[in-house]
Formats: sequence, C-alpha cells, structure tokens
Amino acid sequence: MYILTVEDSFASAHQLRGYSGKCENLHGHNWRVVVSVRGEKLNDTGLLVDFGDLKKILRAILADLDHRNLNEHPDFLTENPSSENIAAHIARRYADKLAPIPGPIFLESITVWESDTSRCTYIPAR
Ligand SMILES: [Zn+2]
Repeated sequence: MYILTVEDSFASAHQLRGYSGKCENLHGHNWRVVVSVRGEKLNDTGLLVDFGDLKKILRAILADLDHRNLNEHPDFLTENPSSENIAAHIARRYADKLAPIPGPIFLESITVWESDTSRCTYIPAR
C-alpha cells in the first residue's frame, strides 16, 4: 500500500450559525488542506499517481472556496461551514475527481487546518 500526500491552502471568511461564542461572528482563516490518497498498484513509471495531478485536483476544488464568505457558498447555505463540513465537502469533490484515474486510487483522508493548533481530519467510509 502506498499513501501519497499533497497540500495547499485557501483564505476565506465564515461564521457558525447556531453557535454561541466568538465564532458566530464573521471572521477569516487561512485554511491549510492536506490530502492523502492510497493505492497498491504502481504504473509502468513506478508512480501510484503523479503528484502534479493530485495538486491540480486540490487547487481546483480550493479555488471554488478561496476569497469568499463560505456562508454564501451554495453548499453551505444551510450546512455550517465548520472545519468538519469543509473537510467532508472537499472529500466528496476529491473522491469524484479520483474515480476516473486508473489504479484504483482511493481517498485516504482530508485534513483541514483552521489555525496552527486546530485541525479536523475526515476519513471517508471504506
Ligand atoms: Zn472560524
């Protein structure tokens, strides 16, 4: 089993609905996102998948979240843009983009850091 990991980041604002505390107010984060994929079968070049392809997928997903108020994003109009829900959102989109890549290659985990000391890891059901 091989596990490949890439990371990227984005900046956005959010506020938590139904939350009592300072996170109910609009504020921003520089989110760091770490993605790991797994697979067993290497291609003829000796790669599970090109790191560049993994980064390209992540960049495209994060571009949709970058420099905006996440509460106004269509996927977070009712669901809170918490670190947990953001990780699951990225995981769903990432898994869809991995599916056509020969392998098979599976999404292992998505970790979303909302600060240097707070992060959420989402592991899709196997
Ligand atoms: Zn926050």
